[in-house]
Amino acid sequence: MNLNSLLSVVAIIAVATGLVLVYTRFFPDMAFTVIIIYISTIICLSLILAITAWLYRKHKSSVDAGDIAGISENLNTEMIMWTDDLSAVYMNKHMRDLLGIEGFNFDHKAEIMRAFGIENFNHSTIQEIVKSSSHEARFTSADDTPITIAWSTSLVKQKKKTALYLSTGLNLTEIKKMRLDLASTNDLFNYSMSLAEIGIIMSNDMSNFIASPETVRMLGLKSNNISLKNLRAIVHPNDRLMFDSAIKLAGTDNGNEVHNIELRMSSADGFYHWYSYRYKGMNHSDSLPMFGGALMDNTQEHEKDLIIERLAYIDDVTEIANRNKLMDVGQETFEQCRMLDCSYWIIVLDIDRFHIINDSSGYQNGNYILRNFANIMCKFVTPGGLASRISGDNFALIMRDYGDDDLPVRTAKAIQEEFSKSAVGDFASVNLSCSAGYAKMPKDGENFLEAFEHAEFALKSGGNENSTIHGYEARMHDSIIGRTELEKELAVAIDNNELQLFYQPKIELSTGKIMGVEALIRWIKPDGTIVRPDAFVPVAESSHLIGKISEFVLNEGCRQNKLWQKMGYPEIVMSINFTSTDFYQKDLKDKVFEALAKTGLDPKWLEVELTETLALSDIDYAVSQMNKLRELGVKLAMDDFGTGYSSLSYLQILPITLLKLDRSFIIDIEHDNIAYEIVSSVIRIAKSKKIETIAEGIENPNQEDILRKAGCDFGQGYLYGKPMPAEKIEEFFEENMKKTKEK
Ligand code: C2E
Ligand code: MG
Ligand code: MG
Repeated sequence: MNLNSLLSVVAIIAVATGLVLVYTRFFPDMAFTVIIIYISTIICLSLILAITAWLYRKHKSSVDAGDIAGISENLNTEMIMWTDDLSAVYMNKHMRDLLGIEGFNFDHKAEIMRAFGIENFNHSTIQEIVKSSSHEARFTSADDTPITIAWSTSLVKQKKKTALYLSTGLNLTEIKKMRLDLASTNDLFNYSMSLAEIGIIMSNDMSNFIASPETVRMLGLKSNNISLKNLRAIVHPNDRLMFDSAIKLAGTDNGNEVHNIELRMSSADGFYHWYSYRYKGMNHSDSLPMFGGALMDNTQEHEKDLIIERLAYIDDVTEIANRNKLMDVGQETFEQCRMLDCSYWIIVLDIDRFHIINDSSGYQNGNYILRNFANIMCKFVTPGGLASRISGDNFALIMRDYGDDDLPVRTAKAIQEEFSKSAVGDFASVNLSCSAGYAKMPKDGENFLEAFEHAEFALKSGGNENSTIHGYEARMHDSIIGRTELEKELAVAIDNNELQLFYQPKIELSTGKIMGVEALIRWIKPDGTIVRPDAFVPVAESSHLIGKISEFVLNEGCRQNKLWQKMGYPEIVMSINFTSTDFYQKDLKDKVFEALAKTGLDPKWLEVELTETLALSDIDYAVSQMNKLRELGVKLAMDDFGTGYSSLSYLQILPITLLKLDRSFIIDIEHDNIAYEIVSSVIRIAKSKKIETIAEGIENPNQEDILRKAGCDFGQGYLYGKPMPAEKIEEFFEENMKKTKEK
């Protein structure tokens, strides 16, 4: 009871006494009764007050918290009121239940130490509890449960030397348990991921990535945060483009589809491992990452796949990618070009006259050349590119385009150069060269196959004989289609005997006598149009048709010459032209022998004309083929001398009997001293080697005069006669016989 209550009681008693006194004054006869009642009432009240005070005091001995006790007693939270000398300690029911205390009589010190989770109750521990905004205490409850309570303590009253504190607790037991559960779930999750060796990579902004502990372990990362730049840097250079597409795809994806890529990444052991990354872009929200996926090391599976892939995708001879692989990679690359707005080159390469090399040197050596070519090509493969052998002597190279339009030409030239230099040892005499055609992806096609075919078109448009490099242009299409059409037409023409030989006379300059004719093929169409060989021989040569044509020329030339002899014309040499395909055939000697035998022509009246380029493709083999013809007694002429890799030293090696000076020298000979000097010295040297000379394309008597004086043996050209059909040349024979007799 406080002072105010006492004063109120005293005031009530005073007022009541006053009222009794006033009453006894006005009603004196009732005074005794009123006073007796009044005194009895006062005594009763005093008794009630005394009992209340006694009760009050009794409670006060437990703690001075009488009012609070009622309220706090049943509060469903922990509460302790305590004095720092431990003279009074009150714990509410909730707290007492936790500690297993019954009633209010308990060991203050022991229980307060338990409640605050301290081992000593002294000044410093009290200060610690009081000063800490939340003193975390751990103890074991009456039912053996580990309890954690965060106590918040405040000073209630300071009585002389004793301070009264109120501590209220926040039971953290459940929260702790939840956190523990969460932590252990996370641990368990990570543990399972690490057991299964599955890493996770995700990102919120596609520029910074979060890696799971297993990813950090697998890739040997320094931290679980990695930037896009650093992540890209550990991807194998050849797989970076694929990585870029994946990132781009994931960044724009709304999460409808799961994607999978296989790529190599530098790993903890310092080597590149193959990883499969299964990922998905997501509808971006603050709570979800923008992109995420699982990473698995599948190097072992990849190695198994490699064995299978080897069988399906590797070329046996060269051990580089085959056509199947080229098609797969090409298609992928083409799609990437579209997606990433970049471009690539597809370069198709073809070894010139490979069939000749193969026939002449044998398959083993042919394979060696193919391997050698593949190795050279591989040196030019850049990241993301591919070198492959598509068939026979055809190769293809995929290269990334960095805006340098000269790259394919430069690369093809470099390959050509290295390839030609690689002709050493057994191949020293072989002229190794190649041709190339190229197209750009995705510009030059609707898909990879189309771009690839366009590169092949470009290659073919360069013809077979020259080592040239051609870029695809849309207009080439027409000429290629034209070629195919021409090829079909020519095949029909051969069957319909539309091919015919024209003959151009060759004259002995000293006498003016006809000494031979050159058989020159013509295609006479049914409408009478005459097609010259330049228009169809190259097409025939790039197909199987040349064989048929050459067989016709050889047999017809021999037959006609023998016929003229039989007709009584002077004996002359019949010259026929051979392409490399004809010349390098293994059964060349047999074919020529058969033609001679069949027609009965003496071999000395047959001459084969070969060009320099043809002879120099593979000198050793050329020499052996030439010797075979020489063995038969057939003459050999070197055609168009001076236009190719002219070297007089070849005159020493090649068993030729006649040198045909190219028309280009003859055109200039009248006015150009250098041309004259060259021609006359060639004639001189040829003579010293016992090789006869003939000048092609003599068109006027002045040229003839100069050449005769320079010691040239024979002449051929419009001055004497253009190529003409058999009946016309027979007239020429007649006239020539007459003219030369007159002389
Ligand atoms: P080639 O063997 O050098 O033949 C000489 C060419 O020069 C012929 O052209 C001939 O008509 C032309 N010619 C000759 N004299 C003159 C002249 O005074 N002035 C001019 N402007 N030209 C002259 P043609 O008949 O059109 O033959 C062209 C080429 O076609 C030949 O060059 C030869 O390489 C090839 N050829 C011709 N017939 C055959 C053949 O039956 N088989 C093969 N494989 N190739 C042939
Ligand atoms: Mg010729
Ligand atoms: Mg010629």
